[in-house]
Amino acid sequence: MIRMLLIALLLYIGYRILVSFTAAKKPLQPSTGTRDQSVETFCDPICGMYISEEQAVVGTHGGKRLYFCSMNCLEKYREQLDHTSPT
Ligand SMILES: [Zn+2]
Repeated sequence: MIRMLLIALLLYIGYRILVSFTAAKKPLQPSTGTRDQSVETFCDPICGMYISEEQAVVGTHGGKRLYFCSMNCLEKYREQLDHTSPT
């Protein structure tokens, strides 16, 4: 009889350990979204979209590097420059 009780007790203790382990594992930091923050992104001045350097269309203006989501935005930017700065 005592053996049965001991086994029951051991099972109970094992169960409690298991529960405490799974409970401790729960508050892990979320892995989603952290990866993108390590990649540097640039804001497209035309449409406001954020693009990573490898995806971006790079244009230069006055020695400054500008990043666009597409050639369309780069063209628009150049058009705007033509309209705003009379040189
Ligand atoms: Zn754009």
